[in-house]
Amino acid sequence: MATVNLADYAPLVGQSMLDEIKALGEKLGGASIQHINSTAVGGGVAEILARLVPLMGEAGLKSEWTVMEGTPPFFQVTKTFHNAFHGVKVDVTPDMLETYREANRQNYNKVDTGANFVVVHDQQPLGLTEVMNQQQKWIWYCHIDPVDVDHRVWRFLGSFAGKCHAAIYHLPEYAKGLGLPEYLLPPAIDPLSEKNREVTAEEKAQVLERLGILLDKPIVLQVSRFDRLKDPVGVIQAYKMVKKITPCQLILAGGGAADDPEGAQVLAEVREASEGDPDIHILDLPPTANLEINVLQRVAAVVVQKSLREGFGLTVTEAMWKARPVVAAAVGGIKKQVLHEQTGLLAHSVEGAAWSIYRILNNPAYGEVLAKAGREHVRKNFILPVYLRTWLGLLNAMGQSEGYSGC
Ligand code: UDP
Repeated sequence: MATVNLADYAPLVGQSMLDEIKALGEKLGGASIQHINSTAVGGGVAEILARLVPLMGEAGLKSEWTVMEGTPPFFQVTKTFHNAFHGVKVDVTPDMLETYREANRQNYNKVDTGANFVVVHDQQPLGLTEVMNQQQKWIWYCHIDPVDVDHRVWRFLGSFAGKCHAAIYHLPEYAKGLGLPEYLLPPAIDPLSEKNREVTAEEKAQVLERLGILLDKPIVLQVSRFDRLKDPVGVIQAYKMVKKITPCQLILAGGGAADDPEGAQVLAEVREASEGDPDIHILDLPPTANLEINVLQRVAAVVVQKSLREGFGLTVTEAMWKARPVVAAAVGGIKKQVLHEQTGLLAHSVEGAAWSIYRILNNPAYGEVLAKAGREHVRKNFILPVYLRTWLGLLNAMGQSEGYSGC
């Protein structure tokens, strides 16, 4: 990955924002921050940390990223918890709670007890709050929609989250009322990463050839982990409706995340649902396939994100940044990104998604208007320098409160 410096973002956000970032970074006086999550690749959190951590370093913090380790039974438990956050009915047994606690105990030694700030991303490493010391400020960063979390799961995980000094959510309506300062910080994409940078015509052609994709029919694309909550089978159903009235092809591009054990099973369901249609391309991509995803998003006529639940939906942000028209489910953070009929189209059902896809395929000029506004919406709100600035403001606010001794 090419090294990126803060100065490289000046053409996108202006020098004044970079100056603000530097000033906020300096005010933190060389504080140290440790980010902890549960996977190095796959999914939105790993994507953000890979880019945020070095830039926090450039802004003057001592910034480190630690991935906790876990066994397959632990990830099975945390996947169950993840589903429970999204309102899925789950069984919770004492054994599961003990598997969770034990995996976290095995990771206690990964906590940097000297770091001024420790940020626990999502629920997997929340058990590490057991080893916090009171010289530190711990932050729980919830990247998913916790509104309908199963009460038994929340009673267990909320007790860990409640020990933190602050919590961060993507949307105001996600706040759990933990009795802590609760902040709002939606995530962001890095416009200069391999996944989002401009690509040459030659790179485009090479990737398409490698993936076996022809541009002979308009492409309807969804990029997502193979997860039922991303509703890949619903996308196939919507595509089949559209295909009856206008020619198109469907690409479902995805892969697994190390902390998601259900991917293979969902992929098998998706293959079954697409059997017999040569215009459906299921691409099981490795986590390193950033250029491939970049190119697919750029050549798509419509990018779909038909999630049933969504924390934020970075795939939507990525597509909008590339000025592609988006049809997305009106769930979670997608609603902040896709302003209906302005920056994209929202859908509420398979039929609604099909209708919106059809509208864009049938009226590409309208799609381009939405896409152009979408890119500007992302530039103003959801790109890395904007995100970094908010992060630094938040750390300054926390640093000024009692208990932080600086460095
Ligand atoms: N992603 C990827 N490869 C895949 C599937 C997804 O690199 O096979 C990336 C995708 O481009 C996006 C992130 O993983 O950057 C997914 O983030 P999102 O918020 O959409 O969903 P999550 O997976 O976190 O639920």
